[in-house]
Amino acid sequence: WRRWGRAVGVLREFEEGCATPIGRLRQVVDAMVVEMHAGLASDGGSKLKMLLTFVDRLPDGKEEGIYYAIDLGGANVRVLRVQLGGKRSMILGHEGESNPVPRNLLTNSTVELFDLVAMTLKHFVEKDENGHKLVVEKTKELGFTFSFPVKQKSVSSGVLIKWTKGLFIEDTVGRDVTQCLEEALARRGLNMRVTVLVNDTVGALALGHYYDKDTVAAVIIGAGTNACYVERTDAIIKCQGLLTNSGGMVINMEWGNFWSSHLPRTPYDIALDDESQNRNEQGFEKLISGMYLGDVARRVLYKMALESDVFGDAIGGLSTPFALSTPMMAAMHEDESPDLREVARILEETMQVLVPLKTRKLVVRVCDIVTRRAARLAAAGIVGILKKMGRDGSGGAPTGRTKSKTRRSVVAVEGGLYAGYTLFREYLNEAIREILGEQVSRNVVLRITEDGSGQRLNRDSCRQSQTV
Ligand code: ADP
Repeated sequence: WRRWGRAVGVLREFEEGCATPIGRLRQVVDAMVVEMHAGLASDGGSKLKMLLTFVDRLPDGKEEGIYYAIDLGGANVRVLRVQLGGKRSMILGHEGESNPVPRNLLTNSTVELFDLVAMTLKHFVEKDENGHKLVVEKTKELGFTFSFPVKQKSVSSGVLIKWTKGLFIEDTVGRDVTQCLEEALARRGLNMRVTVLVNDTVGALALGHYYDKDTVAAVIIGAGTNACYVERTDAIIKCQGLLTNSGGMVINMEWGNFWSSHLPRTPYDIALDDESQNRNEQGFEKLISGMYLGDVARRVLYKMALESDVFGDAIGGLSTPFALSTPMMAAMHEDESPDLREVARILEETMQVLVPLKTRKLVVRVCDIVTRRAARLAAAGIVGILKKMGRDGSGGAPTGRTKSKTRRSVVAVEGGLYAGYTLFREYLNEAIREILGEQVSRNVVLRITEDGSGQRLNRDSCRQSQTV
C-alpha cells in the first residue's frame, strides 16, 4: 500500500470535523431554543422561520366521513381518499395514487405544474374504489399538503416563500398556492375547494395526534427535513393579539434552514453547499437529510481517491456529484457480510471502482461518520423542541397541572431516512437518551407515522412506536 496513511488521515480529519460529543449536542439544543424564540419574536428574526399554520386543533380520532387529500412535496404528487369512522384508529378505508412529476415540470411554469396536480386529482376523484366512473356533483372539500415554506394567511391559504427540494419555478414564489390549485381545478372542471392547506410536517403531527393525543411535535426526516410543534399562542410574540380557541397553534419551524456556529461543519459540507442550488440556505438539512448524506460521503471518498491509492488508479464515478445516493450509502453501512460483499457490489455498480476489503472497511467508516453526525444533530433538534415546550425535564416548564417530569411526550417521525435506515434510527434514539438521561427519556416516545400526508396511511402505523 502506497499512501494508505493518507487515506486514513483523510478519514481521521473528517471524523474530528464531524464530532458530536454530548457538550456540543447540548450547545445545539440550546441554539435551537434560542432561534425558536427569535423566530417567534419577529419575522426575519431568525433563520428559523417559525411559520404560523393557523391550525389550532388537531384531529383526535372522532372524525367521520370521506376526506380527499392531495400531496405535493417533491418529485411526486399523491392523491388520497380516506374514510374515517369516528372512533380512534378507525380508518375504515383509504386508497391513493402516486405519480412522479416529470422533471421538466419541476422548473417550468406554475400553470403546468398545478395543471398536472389537478389532472391527477381529477382522474382519481372521478372514479370510485372499483375504478367505476363517478359523477361529481357536490363541491368536494380538499386537504392540500404542500411541503414547501408558505406564509399562511389562514388555515386554507398562503403564499409560497421559496421552493426547495429540487423545484424551482420562479413565477410561483409570492403567489397563493391554494389559489393556484383552485384555478387549475376550475380549468379542469373539477368541483373542489381547498379547506385546509398544510405541509407534510403538520400532516404527520395531525396523524400522530389522531392516534395518540400526547403527540406534541412532528419531524420529517426524508429527502428533506422539517419539524413542527404545538406552541402556546401567547408565546408567538410576532402576532400579538392572536387568539385561538385552544390557546395553542401549530408552528411550522422550517428547521431545515436552522443554523448555528455550534454545528460541526467540514470542508466537504462547505463544498457541497457552494455547489448547491440554494447556497447558504437549508444548512441543517444539508447535514441531516437523505438528499445530501450520500453525497457528503462520496466527497470524502473522492478525496481519499485523490490523496491515496486505496481506490487503485480509477476515480470512476467518485467525482460525479450525487453518484452515491443515501439509500446506497445506507446499504453499504449496514452490510453485515464478513467480506463486505454489498459494499463491493455498490462501489462497482454505482461508482465503477473495484476495491479490496481493507478499503471497503474505510468506506463503511465514512458512511458511519456521516450518518452518526446526522442522526445526533437531528436528536439535538428534537430535544431543542422538547426543551422549548418545557418537556425536557429540566424544570422551568410552563404552568400546567402535571409536572413536566412526568408528562409523556410523543414525537411523530416520518420520512424514508428515519423509517428505512436502522442505524440512523438507532443513533438518533441513543443520542436523545444521552442528552435527556434515562429517566426523562422514558417519557419521550418517537413514533413512526407512515406518511401522514400520503398514501401509506394505515392502521399499522400506530403500532410502530418506539420509546427512546
Ligand atoms: P420525501 O422526503 O421526498 O417525502 P421520503 O420521506 O420517502 O420522501 O424519503 C425519501 C428519502 O429518504 C430518499 O431521498 C432517501 O434519501 C431516504 N431513504 C429512503 N429509504 C432509505 C433507506 N432505506 N436508507 C437510507 N435512506 C433512505
